[in-house]
Amino acid sequence: MQDDGDRDGARIWYISNGVRGFDVNTLPRCRAIAKATGNRCKRPAQKGRRHCGVHNGTVPAGGPKGNKNAYKHGLYTNEAVKENRLARELLHEAEDFINQIIHGG
Ligand SMILES: [Zn+2]
Repeated sequence: MQDDGDRDGARIWYISNGVRGFDVNTLPRCRAIAKATGNRCKRPAQKGRRHCGVHNGTVPAGGPKGNKNAYKHGLYTNEAVKENRLARELLHEAEDFINQIIHGG
């Protein structure tokens, strides 16, 4: 499902000064069914989710992937960490190779 920042199908109300509010009655509803009663949970679903916060619909914490909020020098980006690991492995293999030549392993 595409999440473009709006609650799907929800009617948007402009309260004042461009502040947006959602008409609670048009929000997508949680699809969970309560074990005790067999009735649908009627809480509004979380943004971009099919369930409410109570029924495992919470939006994961943290920024979107690829954001540069804490970016300082790029030494610990996923790519740099992968490259460093690869370089270490190559170095290790080279050491093994040299040791084999020296010690005739
Ligand atoms: Zn629910």
